[in-house]
Amino acid sequence: MTHHTDDTTDNTVLVTDPVCGMLIDPATAATTREHGGTTFYFCSIGCAKAFDADPHRYGHP
Ligand SMILES: [Zn+2]
Ligand SMILES: [Zn+2]
Repeated sequence: MTHHTDDTTDNTVLVTDPVCGMLIDPATAATTREHGGTTFYFCSIGCAKAFDADPHRYGHP
């Protein structure tokens, strides 16, 4: 008998919230924004609002 475990957690790719620098799972991000063809993920609405106020500050390294 074979016991096979689907360890899907290994496939999770974390992204960085550009405002606060927190690593977050895109699937559980509070909200997203698109800028310059790139999707940014945020841990909270507050971080997204900071991005909205000055997207070029955060959207371009
Ligand atoms: Zn954040
Ligand atoms: Zn820009």
